[in-house]
Parts: sequence; structure tokens; C-alpha cells
Amino acid sequence: MLARATRAGDLAELDGAVADCFACPRLVAWREEVAAVRRAAFRDQEYWGRPVPGFGVPDARIAILGLAPAAHGGNRTGRIFTGDRSGDVLFAALHRAGLANQPTSVAADDCLALRHTRIAAAVRCAPPDNKPSPAERDTCAPWLHREIDLIRPTLRVVVTLGAFAWAAWWPLLRQVYGVRPPTPRPGFGHGAHWSGDEAVPQVLGCYHVSQQNTFTGRLTPTMLDEVFARARHLAGLDEDG
Ligand code: SF4
Repeated sequence: MLARATRAGDLAELDGAVADCFACPRLVAWREEVAAVRRAAFRDQEYWGRPVPGFGVPDARIAILGLAPAAHGGNRTGRIFTGDRSGDVLFAALHRAGLANQPTSVAADDCLALRHTRIAAAVRCAPPDNKPSPAERDTCAPWLHREIDLIRPTLRVVVTLGAFAWAAWWPLLRQVYGVRPPTPRPGFGHGAHWSGDEAVPQVLGCYHVSQQNTFTGRLTPTMLDEVFARARHLAGLDEDG
């Protein structure tokens, strides 16, 4: 699996290879069971039921890092944050920030396109209860590491959605950039900001766009707008448009 990830010469090759990964028995069983049973509202649809690749442009300056696909969202539609409430909130915010061409994300063929941005998950298969194990996170890490490696020439800022994605970022500094992660590891929080030397992307923390956060008002549209405005600024997009 590691070899397949590191061999991928571009994002299209990586996306094709990851969609064919069976390395985590528990997650493979879950993604396929969800796809077979389906939710009543989607009973007439064919679920993707496989690992969900990253989405966005190859020359991204901003990467958005999530936790894992949702069982009836990305695992159904085959595109990350697509077809669920979390995606509704995220893509509306990206559209307001000028980073997406439309405010909705409902299906893989809905003509959504991102600007300057790539979205990926730390774990590529939908986990039970949205909780991948640390071992599953580590098994899946080579896919994320290669993805970041491929967009490394342009990448300036990483927005991590939630503490899990924040934690998944730091090992990547050594694996992809060859630099020692900061010690102690910076703590996650909404609005947390870390910058190292110029060779590595700056990191922003943002509460996850889960319903748990957005329905309770813990994460508001205004808070998301502030994060993406800051990401745009740090990525140098305010100067370039
Ligand atoms: S979680 Fe990652 S490593 Fe595990 S089966 Fe899915 S794609 Fe493969």
C-alpha cells in the first residue's frame, strides 16, 4: 500500500489507486455494509462504498484536511464532503470565500469546482461512529502524505478541521518535508495558528464542520468566514486574486 501511494506520479493516479485500497479490514467491512444496507432516503441510489479520494486543484495553495468520509455522504457520492450537512456548511463557506464556484455539493457530477484549494481526509474510508482508530489513521497516512507531496510546490496553508486532522498533520512534516515536527506539539483549538520556516505550510485550526458543532452554534458561518479569510491572506491570495 505504501509503495502504491508513493509510486503515484500525479493526483489522478493517486486518486485511482486509493479508491482501490483494502488495507483496513474493519473499515472495508463497514464501508461495504453501509453501501449495501443504505439509508432509506437513498435506497434507490448506488453507493460508492470505497475509499474517497481528495478533491480540488493540483496547484492548490490551501489544503483543507478533514477526518474521514461520512457513511451516507462521501461514502455514498464518492466525493469528499459531498451529499451531507457537513459539506453544505463547508462549501457554502468556501463559495463565500471565493474558493468554490458554487455553494452546494450534492453529487460527484454537480459541476462543483474549487479554486486554489484541495480537500482531503486523514482517513479515506468511512469509519463506524466517525471514529477511526489510531492504527487505521497510521495505515492510511501514506495516501495523505503522497497527496501533500504532490501539491507541495504550491501549498502554503493547511486548514485542519477538528483535533483528529490537526494531529494527523504533524508526522507529515518529517515524512514529506524532512523537518522535525515542533515539540511540544502545538495544541488544537479554533483559530490556532502555527508557522514554521518558509519551506513548510502554515497550519490553521478550525472546529470541524460536523452537525454537532454547526447545529449547536459552536461553529458559526462567521467563524468559518474568518478562518478562510485568514487562510486566503496567509496563502497570498489577497494580493493575487
Ligand atoms: S482507510 Fe485508508 S488505508 Fe484503510 S482501507 Fe481505507 S483507504 Fe485504505
